[in-house]
Amino acid sequence: MRCERSPRLQAKQLERFILIMHFILFMLLVCPGEACAATEEAATGTSTDAVLLCRACGHELAVGADIRSVPSRRALSGRNDTLVGGRRVDVQLFQNPHGHRFEVITFRQADVRLHWPADQHFSWFPGFSWTVATCPRCATHLGWAFQPSVWPDTVTKSTFDESDQTFLALIAHRLLTEDFASSLLMTPKSFTS
Ligand SMILES: [Zn+2]
Repeated sequence: MRCERSPRLQAKQLERFILIMHFILFMLLVCPGEACAATEEAATGTSTDAVLLCRACGHELAVGADIRSVPSRRALSGRNDTLVGGRRVDVQLFQNPHGHRFEVITFRQADVRLHWPADQHFSWFPGFSWTVATCPRCATHLGWAFQPSVWPDTVTKSTFDESDQTFLALIAHRLLTEDFASSLLMTPKSFTS
């Protein structure tokens, strides 16, 4: 059996090396620096002026400055995400009466559609009633809105928006940051030639 490598084998190895280099170049182009964080982190990672989008349709829902921490003792757990813009956001885990668990981020405001009447039962935030919040463009369920339980079950959108006692809890993995979305749209040069 011959021990030295045949020219054919060397050519194959060179081909493999070139393929690996192409892959590395591709990863560098698609994932520049911190933008290549894990999907969930990218969805929640934001600086104050970062735009948060509906993951299903890309509708602009809120900016980073709209995020507001509303800790609840009814959360199963809470974690503090390290974010792309250096800002940290509280992500809380809740469970609904059907046993479904949701990781949510709380917002002062967001461009969502609310579905009154509000319900006082099984609220994750004591003293607050909830309504379902959906995307105004694609109707995906994005989370819930909370208003004081002492309020009427149905209020106008402007009453809700103008009060500083109201907030939203949006499901973390149904959101996307704009910088992460644009990194998905980048086409490596090696694919366009
Ligand atoms: Zn949408």
